Amino acid sequence: MAFKITDECISCGACEAECPNTAISEGETIFTIAVDKCTECVGSFSSSRCADVCPVDCCVVDPDNEESQDQLMEKWKGLHPGETPA
Ligand code: SF4
Repeated sequence: MAFKITDECISCGACEAECPNTAISEGETIFTIAVDKCTECVGSFSSSRCADVCPVDCCVVDPDNEESQDQLMEKWKGLHPGETPA
């Protein structure tokens, strides 16, 4: 499952620099996560960095974008060609 950012976002920007896939960007009112780039941090970290650093816990799994661990790893490989997963 990709992560999403809920309306509780206070636009602090803490998450943006933490994402290993540059999936997070500033939207019109709150920050957003690009579904095609979010791997739940699979391939990079053992936990989801955006959720780890968010001060208001607004980075959550998106049930509308369910993906298996294998699918997330394939997505990671597409984003990081030639690299070795952590
Ligand atoms: Fe980026 Fe990881 Fe958050 Fe997905 S879960 S948006 S890959 S920091």
